[in-house]
Amino acid sequence: MKAVYLEEHGGPEVLKYGDVPEPEIGPNDVRVRVRACALNRLDLFTRQGVRGTRMEFSGPHVLGGDVAGDVVEAGSEVTRVREGDRVVINPKAACRQCDYCLGGDDELCLRPGMLGSTRNGGYAEYVAVPGTNAVALPSTLGYEEAASLPTVFLPSWTILVRRARLRAWETALIVSASSGVGSAAIQVAKRVSGAKVIATTSSEEKAAMARDLGADAVIDYSKEDAASRIRELTGGRGVDVVLDHVGSDAWAYAMPSLAKGGRYGICGVTSGYKAELQMGLLFLKNQTVFGAFMGRMADLPHVVDLAGRGVIRGVVHRSFPLAEAGKAHEAMEALGFFGKLVLTVP
Ligand SMILES: [Zn+2]
Repeated sequence: MKAVYLEEHGGPEVLKYGDVPEPEIGPNDVRVRVRACALNRLDLFTRQGVRGTRMEFSGPHVLGGDVAGDVVEAGSEVTRVREGDRVVINPKAACRQCDYCLGGDDELCLRPGMLGSTRNGGYAEYVAVPGTNAVALPSTLGYEEAASLPTVFLPSWTILVRRARLRAWETALIVSASSGVGSAAIQVAKRVSGAKVIATTSSEEKAAMARDLGADAVIDYSKEDAASRIRELTGGRGVDVVLDHVGSDAWAYAMPSLAKGGRYGICGVTSGYKAELQMGLLFLKNQTVFGAFMGRMADLPHVVDLAGRGVIRGVVHRSFPLAEAGKAHEAMEALGFFGKLVLTVP
């Protein structure tokens, strides 16, 4: 089958387009004909071999976690989906054997797998994944939009809905609105939780898109002092919930903006992973800081259902044919986009 693969770490030029063997499935797996695969920051890190992704190559490695396509073969033990189903794949696989998995906390699985990292991913015509990772798509949801959902909506859902329990009368701060997670989190905070939403971004064009997705107020952090604008917008009390997928840069203004009883969820550290925590204020203000990596398997069907009904939507900035994966990586590095970049596999 055709695939884009790596045999060494490096720049976009190490992405090769060519033939690799088709993946085989076990009794609990499905084989999916990939139609769309969305890019994630993790793909760039893995290509470069940075941030804990360095690997010994034993053969061609195929990137890509967020896949949508058609089930072409289902293992004998698979009951969730069947051959012919249109599906989207949760890239994070749980072992279904450890104590966390048995307790329903599969996001804490002790032996998780990751499509595109621990096994070959979706920059290819076919992928093999556990059947439990496939969610059938409603007819209203296209492949490209579906592929743009899992990795950005799962952490947004985990932080805002399940962990922080954001409520309709509260205010959420969503930092860096233009990224995939930012564009998802604004929608979850506004359209699922019904909260007031303040978003931050760096240009007027991106601010307009953030408002279009549901942000009530948008702060241009390249021009304004974000912390004082947030104080102004919240009458001095601060925000109840922060969703931070940026790390150090956002922490500097977002943590001082957290209200009493506030919850601060972190699901990414693209700008840096260290921060200073004023522990005295943390306990005086009864605040919570927590991390979230992806989400629970059972949350993705809710995301897919809401997207199918148009309550939320996957934001696709641009798509590229599979063979142009290198160009897509360059586009992601250039940062001039809003939402997701997607590879299509005709
Ligand atoms: Zn497990």
